[in-house]
Amino acid sequence: MSAPTRPSEPQFIPVSTLVRTSVCPVRVYLERHEGITEPPEYTIAKQVGYHLGALAVSDGSAASESEVVSSVGSPQVPDCNPDPHVERIWGEIRLVRPDIDDSMKEYLKGCIAACRGLAWEAPVAADVSCTNRKYGISGRIDWIFSKKPAIGILRAGRAPTYGVWKQDRIRAAAYLLAAEEMEQLNDGGHSLSEVRIAYIPSGIVRTVAPTASDRRSLLAALRKAEAIYRGETPQAPPDAPCDRCPKQESCTRGAGEPQTLFDRFFRRG
Ligand code: SF4
Repeated sequence: MSAPTRPSEPQFIPVSTLVRTSVCPVRVYLERHEGITEPPEYTIAKQVGYHLGALAVSDGSAASESEVVSSVGSPQVPDCNPDPHVERIWGEIRLVRPDIDDSMKEYLKGCIAACRGLAWEAPVAADVSCTNRKYGISGRIDWIFSKKPAIGILRAGRAPTYGVWKQDRIRAAAYLLAAEEMEQLNDGGHSLSEVRIAYIPSGIVRTVAPTASDRRSLLAALRKAEAIYRGETPQAPPDAPCDRCPKQESCTRGAGEPQTLFDRFFRRG
């Protein structure tokens, strides 16, 4: 986690931390001194993202782009005839992440198959850092486009049947806020209101316009994250996803605050 180890230092709160806080601030608190390892799925999706332009034209059947764009992938090429895109991108991934397991190559093949033929507008910039000093948040925008929606972010998970996931609505609101002070994106005083989200394993790009409710959720997460950075212990939300949380052992859900070392070693059982 990128939370500060010295809370007294001024810090920007990353967008990813805000999204995680919106899910469960207790988990963010418990993981505040742990390093967050990038999931291999994200490493792969990110690398595929650099090649969407080449994949779009690789079979000459790019679909036209609309406000909500979807694309169906073509069948995978049999292993006896290696796909040059797969081999090239896998080589890059091995360079970026030498420890990646070979089994993840199947995930890469699925992403490439899904994204082949995807209508894709070439971005004007990629991996652009942004900070909002007023709110103290920071992020890294995956793509900036010349046309609206100007901000694009990628996800390593599959798209929902319709729209975007709730967390991605908050993520989009956070990126819009983080980008508010970027002159490149806000010329003429017109603030941005939409974000493109590319679900790489699905080969789907959707546009989301965060609602007032999404922005309220973002501000609530910001307040909670700021409190965590100050060293305060958060409350568990009623809808925290405890059933799939890796911190179950060290968290007393419903007790109001995370376990202390005394709780963990002397009150168990
Ligand atoms: S067990 Fe539940 S309350 Fe505790 S950190 Fe995980 S999600 Fe949050």
